Amino acid sequence: MNKYTPVIGLEIHVELSTNSKMFCGCKNDPFGADKPNSHVCPVCLGMPGALPVPNKKAIESTVLLGLALGCSINRHSKFDRKHYRYPDLPKGYQITQYELPFCYGSELHTSEGPVRLRRIHLEEDTAKLLHAKNKGEESRIDFNRGGVPLMELVTEPDILSSAQAKEFGKKLRTIILYLGISDADLERGNMRLEASVSLRKEGETALPSYKVELKNINSFSFMEKAIQFEIKRQTALLEEGIQPAQETRGWHEQTGETVLQRSKENADDYRYFPDPDIPPIELSEELLNELKAAIPELPSAKVERWKKDYAIEERYGTMLSDDRAEADKWDALFSALKKETVPVADVVKDVANKKTAFTNQTPVAEIHAHYHAKKTADAPSPEKIAEAVATVITENAKAVADFRAGNEKAVMFLLGMVFKRLQTKLGADAIRAELLKQLKKI
Ligand code: ADP
Ligand code: ZN
Ligand code: MG
Repeated sequence: MNKYTPVIGLEIHVELSTNSKMFCGCKNDPFGADKPNSHVCPVCLGMPGALPVPNKKAIESTVLLGLALGCSINRHSKFDRKHYRYPDLPKGYQITQYELPFCYGSELHTSEGPVRLRRIHLEEDTAKLLHAKNKGEESRIDFNRGGVPLMELVTEPDILSSAQAKEFGKKLRTIILYLGISDADLERGNMRLEASVSLRKEGETALPSYKVELKNINSFSFMEKAIQFEIKRQTALLEEGIQPAQETRGWHEQTGETVLQRSKENADDYRYFPDPDIPPIELSEELLNELKAAIPELPSAKVERWKKDYAIEERYGTMLSDDRAEADKWDALFSALKKETVPVADVVKDVANKKTAFTNQTPVAEIHAHYHAKKTADAPSPEKIAEAVATVITENAKAVADFRAGNEKAVMFLLGMVFKRLQTKLGADAIRAELLKQLKKI
C-alpha cells in the first residue's frame, strides 16, 4: 500500500458584528430579527440604481484582525464584483475583493507547524434560502442576512491533519473573540468553515492536481470528522488507481459521511471587475496606527507571560485564556495570589485537573488558607525534624566545631544538610529552631 500525506487548506467566513450592514444603513442583526425581510432596503435587495456605501467599521475590523495576525495591509484597496446567478444574490453579483484584499501574508502557529495565511478580504453575505421541505411547498428567501459584512480568511494548503485544521480554526476563533469583531458562532453560522482536502503520495512535493472542497460544516469536531472521512475515501480511490474528482462535498452528520454536492470539473468564470459604484479605499497611516494600538494582549502572548511570571504550564494557560473576560479575571487572581506567596502554578494545575472547585471568583484568602494548610500538612513532624537534626550533628563534626568557634556560616551549612536529609524546606522555621536548640545543648 502507498502512503499518502493529506494536503489541507481552509477558507473561513466570519460575519462581523457591526451596527449596520456592509453597504447600506440596514440593521445588521440577522439572528435577532423577529421576522424575515424586516431589515432590508433597495441597496441590500439589489434594486437597480441603488448606491452602495462601504461600512467603515467593517473595514476597520478586517484590518484589525490582519494586524493582530501580523499580515501585510493593502493601504490602497478596492471592492470588486463577482458574478454568479443564484436566488440568494439578487444583484447577480456579490461585492467582494479580488486582487487587493485588505490583508495578506503572515502565518499562524500550531503545534504541528506554521500555517501560512494567504489573504483576508471583506465581502457581503448572501440572503438565506429557506428551502421547501415537501413537494408542492415553495422555497423562500430571507434578506435580513443579505448584505451583512462578511470577512473571508484563506490559508495556503499547509495543513497536514484534521487535528491541525481544528487547532487552527479554534485559535483563529479565540483571536476573533479577543478582538471583539464577531460572535464567531459556528452553530448559528456566523463563522463558517470550508476545508479543501487532497492527498499527496509520500515523498512528492507538488500540490495534487485536484482538491475536494468540504462545505456546510458547523462545528470544529464535524470539520475534523469530515476531513478524516475524506482522507479515507480518497485513499481508497487512489489505491484503486482512481484520481478523486474535483468536487464540493457536504458533511452528513447522521451517516458520518461526506456527500457530493456539486462537481467542479471546470473553473468558474466569475467575470470579476472593480465595482464602479465604490471609489477605491485608502487606509491612512493614522488609522493603521490607531488600530495597532487597539490590539489587546492576545491569548498566545498571555500564555507566554503567565509561563514567565507564574511558571504556569502552557497547556493549562491555553485552557484558561480561551475566553478574554475569564482570562482577565484569572489574571487579576494570579497577581493577587502571587502577592500572598500562594504557589500560582499549583493552583492552576489543580484547577485544570479538576482537583479543586476554586474559580477565578474565589476569594484570595480562601485559596491562601487552603494552600497554607496544605503546606503545614506536608511539613515534616517534630519527631522527624529532631531525628534529622541529631543525625546531621553527628555526621558533621567539623561544621559543629566551626559553629562553636563562633562561625555563623556553619549554621547555614548544617541547615542545608537537614533540608537535604528531610528532602523538603517546608517547616523551615521549626527546623532552624530545632537545630539551634540541639547545637546549644552540645
Ligand atoms: P480556487 O482557485 O479553486 O479557489 P485556491 O487556490 O484559491 O483554489 O484555493 C482555495 C483553497 O483551497 C485554499 O484554502 C487553498 O489552501 C486550498 N487548496 C489549494 N490547492 C489545494 C490542494 N491541492 N489540496 C488541498 N487544498 C488546496
Ligand atoms: Zn439595506
Ligand atoms: Mg478561492
